Amino acid sequence: MTQAFGFQFDNSYARELSDCCVPWQPAVVPTPSLLFFNDTLADELGLDVAALQTAQGAALWAGNLLPAGAQPVAQAYAGHQFGRLSPRLGDGRALLLGEVVDRHGVRRDIAFKGSGATPFSRGGDGKAAVGPMLREVLIGEAMHALGIPTTRALAVAGTGEQVYRERAMPGAVLTRVAASHLRVGTMEYFAVRREYDHLRKVADYAIARHDPDLVGEPTRYLDLLQRVARRQAVLISQWMNVGFIHGVMNTDNMTLSGETIDYGPCAFMEAYNPQTVFSSIDQGGRYAYGNQPAIAQWNLARLAEALLPVIAEDLTEPHINRAIEQVTAVIEAFPEWYQAAQVRGLQAKLGLSSLGPEQDAADAELADAWLDLLRQQEADFTLAWRRLADAAEGQAQPLRALGREPEAWDAWLTRWQARLALESTDDMARVARAGQMRQRNPYVIPRNHHVEDALAAATNDGNLAPFERLLAALRTPYLETPELAPYGEPAPAAVTACYQTFCGT
Ligand code: AMP
Ligand code: MG
Repeated sequence: MTQAFGFQFDNSYARELSDCCVPWQPAVVPTPSLLFFNDTLADELGLDVAALQTAQGAALWAGNLLPAGAQPVAQAYAGHQFGRLSPRLGDGRALLLGEVVDRHGVRRDIAFKGSGATPFSRGGDGKAAVGPMLREVLIGEAMHALGIPTTRALAVAGTGEQVYRERAMPGAVLTRVAASHLRVGTMEYFAVRREYDHLRKVADYAIARHDPDLVGEPTRYLDLLQRVARRQAVLISQWMNVGFIHGVMNTDNMTLSGETIDYGPCAFMEAYNPQTVFSSIDQGGRYAYGNQPAIAQWNLARLAEALLPVIAEDLTEPHINRAIEQVTAVIEAFPEWYQAAQVRGLQAKLGLSSLGPEQDAADAELADAWLDLLRQQEADFTLAWRRLADAAEGQAQPLRALGREPEAWDAWLTRWQARLALESTDDMARVARAGQMRQRNPYVIPRNHHVEDALAAATNDGNLAPFERLLAALRTPYLETPELAPYGEPAPAAVTACYQTFCGT
């Protein structure tokens, strides 16, 4: 039985790339219950918000009832996982239901995660647990509220069955909305199999979807690489500027759209330290906070390799050598693009405008000195930036109280004040600047201890209240009120020191 629920599907992937995916059905589960529903996002997608919150809606979000027009498929992809190629990953516990064009005219994928085993499950159960799915809601919605491109959670339904991880846990299905689910690993899949016609077809599909101005251009595959690299440069700089650690930046978890995807072992840094790693499986710190830009570049080099056969007119010399030179130039330009995005971001956080290339370079040094200071003082990354906005209004004391030695901040603050004086320092300007800084430096981020408490209450007691309270706080990250104070404070250092995240499989 199918019902519309307002979904107006137009499934270009299933239609145009039918030989690049496998039609598949979600598993039927015992007792669906709606745990989370994103009504604003549902409305943006033109869906029937009321109908989707009924028992029928719960059945839909759990995978028991497909909306009319859905054509579920499992997508194929490969991926370099911790540096090693896995030629066949794919949707082992996900299904693309189809695409909906939202109220802004943007085509968005609607996909299940945790909807049962598929031909890509490789022995996995294809299921997901309540905790990790609600975690994806919390972190994804926080990223969205912070203005960072991200896939988003539309709904989470409990399934009424247990899934078995380290222990039995309540099962859930997440519905995810994405600009697309095309990844670096999608291109790798067809490149590794030397299915170059498929590779070209998927690349053309990606271009039509994400870079339509390139359609039909003779250099479009090279241009696609460059566009993806530029999007990732901006995205990673945004991550860095809020202290976000993705945790599992495998090439199958890097989108072509430039959205953040796959909130598994991700976490926000507390005290500033570029070596911060939370993921239990990241023993070597490959995906540590400070490595993220370099890993993005490494992943883009894998995309470049995958695209080579379609970038080169043919695979013989001199064509292939020329293509190698071209993609190498793109990959080598990535650090510059990243740096440019990063400096802009840091300037905004510091309350500075760009005054031209020379001053930008000086500002980058000023920002580096600030970050060194945060490291020496073991200051909380988020709060230090937030308190800098107070300092912009002349209140340096809260900032000075954050680290180990109050006087350690003073030399840098003097330097920063001198830089601010290049703009304007009258009272009006100071207040305006502090206000702008508070729009760039969040007060509320998903702090690990709050996330864990919320997920534990949901998992162990079926109590969603802490999750809902935290979610509400994360939706207004720039607000600072007494009620929000518990969410603004760092975890005790001893808690953070032992904190570990898991992949959420
Ligand atoms: P992830 O770490 O979530 O990015 O997943 C990496 C790969 O493992 C993807 O191909 C997933 O579909 C697959 N996978 C993760 N969890 C499961 C599961 N419980 N059952 C089957 N496949 C899974
Ligand atoms: Mg993944």
